[in-house]
Amino acid sequence: MLQRSEISSQGPTIAEIDLSAFKENVKTLKLTAKKSMLLAVIKTNAYGHGVVPIGLAAVEAGAERLGVTTVKEGALLRENDISVPVHLLSAVMPEQADEIAAKNLTASVSSKELAVALSRAAVKKGNSISVHLKIDTGLHRFGIEPDEAIAFCQSCYHLPNLHWEGIYTHFSSADEADWETTEKQYKLFMRTVSKLADQGFFFPIYHVGGSTITIERSDMHLDIVRPGIALFGYQPDARQEKIISVKPVMKLKSKILHIKELPPKTPVGYGGEYVTETTKKIAVVPIGHGDGYQRALSNKGEMLVGGKRAKIIGTISLDQTLIDITNIPNVKVGDEVVLLGSQGDEMISARDIAGWMDSIVDEVLAGLMERVRRVYV
Ligand SMILES: *Cc1c(COP(=O)(O)O)cnc(C)c1O
Repeated sequence: MLQRSEISSQGPTIAEIDLSAFKENVKTLKLTAKKSMLLAVIKTNAYGHGVVPIGLAAVEAGAERLGVTTVKEGALLRENDISVPVHLLSAVMPEQADEIAAKNLTASVSSKELAVALSRAAVKKGNSISVHLKIDTGLHRFGIEPDEAIAFCQSCYHLPNLHWEGIYTHFSSADEADWETTEKQYKLFMRTVSKLADQGFFFPIYHVGGSTITIERSDMHLDIVRPGIALFGYQPDARQEKIISVKPVMKLKSKILHIKELPPKTPVGYGGEYVTETTKKIAVVPIGHGDGYQRALSNKGEMLVGGKRAKIIGTISLDQTLIDITNIPNVKVGDEVVLLGSQGDEMISARDIAGWMDSIVDEVLAGLMERVRRVYV
């Protein structure tokens, strides 16, 4: 239990995480890809939702596997007694091989250096490491080029103590519904897999797709689907809202810290970019770009107060944001402000915020800093 003094020192800005909505989303996506295993992608601190509580909830809801990008996140999951396979979906440094072996993580391999380092670490530890070969079909981030896959396997497939459990790729343009490019990449992947098999290089598990493929392309589900953002209640693109329904998991809220009345022609905030035209009542909300509430929302975004929309005015600073409450009656210091989620009949979604800052939902959610307290409900 928290002591009263700790509660009051923690500040009013919190991200409320609805674990039951998250678990429902896991189940919805599992039903969408019934024949495949579900690998819940919970990288980047579970897109800002907290990797450990979300990892535990994902497994409880039936996710067969988890995916992260850093060894640190994988280790955290293991230290919290999560025993399902945990995939590292990004390349990692060869010097992290010992920790991967120690924590029994499933590595992505797309370089000989890493394969050799993992093999050595596994031999040293006296067991094997599961690895998935990453094929680059067009994202050009990392992965073995299809033309080089056979040569790569000739030099690495038989390294001791590596268990080549899977082979996979990641598409570049599925979220944008560029099916021509995606199908080309899919075919290239499948051709590579079969060329490798012809040479005796077998991989029991194939996988290619994140949320978009899970939602829209059952023909590409293969052995594992790897949804990320959809688990947190947002389809990668608004067109998919008609196909599947998922529930937002995060609500972001704060409280009014201070209220001020300003006469006409008063500049407000750093640089005085906003100037009042008429008499204005403004409120200070204790969140800023130091919390991951992006500066791009300056003079653009909105928050909910008293069930109404209040516009952000002036430049967002590290720790504070100003909103215009002139037309919202009876607002007092301490009143709840909702930055993400609903209040009364109004709702602000992460997609709205992403639109205001000309970005995507992933950045809105995953960009929220650790110092914003997460409360699990
Ligand atoms: C991030 C990621 C995913 C999940 O993508 P979403 O679009 O968030 O579902 C799947 N696979 C890999 C390799 C990833 O890096």
